[in-house]
Amino acid sequence: MKRRELVKSLAALPLAGGIIGSGLSAFAAEKPAAPTRDFFKELGVTPVINAAATMTFLSGSLMLPEVMDAINSTSHHFANMYELQDKVGAKIAEMLHVEAAMVTSGAACAMLLGTAACITGLDAKKIKILPNFVGERPEVIIQKSHRYLFDQAITTTGAKFVEVEGAEEMDKAFNANTVMALFFNAGEVGKNPISHEKFVELSKKHKVPSFIDAAADVPPVENLFRFQKIGFDLVTFSGGKMMRGPQSAGVLFGRKDLIEAARANHSPNEAPIGRPMKVNKEEMFGMYAAIKSYIERDHKKEWQDWLDRAARMNKALEAVPTVKSKTVISPGPANAFPGLEVTWDQSKIKVTGEDVKTALKDGTPSIVINGNKNALHVGIVLLKPEEVDIVVNRVKEVLSKAV
Ligand SMILES: *Cc1c(COP(=O)(O)O)cnc(C)c1O
Repeated sequence: MKRRELVKSLAALPLAGGIIGSGLSAFAAEKPAAPTRDFFKELGVTPVINAAATMTFLSGSLMLPEVMDAINSTSHHFANMYELQDKVGAKIAEMLHVEAAMVTSGAACAMLLGTAACITGLDAKKIKILPNFVGERPEVIIQKSHRYLFDQAITTTGAKFVEVEGAEEMDKAFNANTVMALFFNAGEVGKNPISHEKFVELSKKHKVPSFIDAAADVPPVENLFRFQKIGFDLVTFSGGKMMRGPQSAGVLFGRKDLIEAARANHSPNEAPIGRPMKVNKEEMFGMYAAIKSYIERDHKKEWQDWLDRAARMNKALEAVPTVKSKTVISPGPANAFPGLEVTWDQSKIKVTGEDVKTALKDGTPSIVINGNKNALHVGIVLLKPEEVDIVVNRVKEVLSKAV
């Protein structure tokens, strides 16, 4: 669009009138004085209260104010994306005590790029051809019990998995086609589980990079530092989970040569496999802000606030006869934080947890909550302060009506 046409179309918008007068600033994303426009309403999209967990289908998490500030304040200027990834990556690497880091379009993207890096290195021909190999496919070693939905991000590169059970099998699985070994941090403990340390040791013995997916594994904040200390060559975390960065961002960090190769497989380069997983300037700044904020946060206080909130909610819910509500802390590694388990005498209150779940989802406001035959599971950490009472009251209302 030519500038004249752009200005013309901006003038057609109700808000743009004042901006046009200030010449070039018509191009800037000006902050409106007040939220004059309700986009949810305008498009008829239902806003949802998340009393469950960070899930991609529910838009991940709510970005922190400092993340929004990073996004808004940097939207006014162009930047060279290579330089931005250099600088943001260097800063994140410094914060996480690793050689190198990069912002990706999520942990799944980081898995794909990390694998691509292990396959191609900086070989331009290989980068160009991925995933269309001629000949034998690259192999990624994984424990059988660690196979999971997200691992398709690995095979999207054209690599295939070689499943192992136990250290002995793993040791024997390495061959000339092996490019990487993948550890799923929240994976099930299978037969003959291989510890993190042993996994790294065997990978190093065979000079093959090890990668750990810890996407959803903060809190605790210590996990951001733990796996590089053990010796994993590549680590990923999601931006859009408890770190509360952009949900379409994540971080990949570790060995410098591998991060360099991962970047060669990514946007802003035009051709490679990672090009469709572009990360924009604002998300890069936003991810930097999110990681910094997460590291600097008072985690003890946050945890205590969650426990206090849980205790208040338990008390309020138990006002309904026969209801028992208790705080449960998921042992992790993923989603390791407090929530509530609510049960009741189903011969007196004639609904299941599943029924309550459906009623809350279909009510106004729409509340997403987990429930099964025997209990209701209330996520509390994603609730805004003003949503706590709304959730408690809706649960009480549905239970009271079922007597
Ligand atoms: C959420 C998740 C991913 C994907 O992360 P995105 O940032 O949404 O791409 C990958 N692995 C695990 C274990 C996850 O929990």
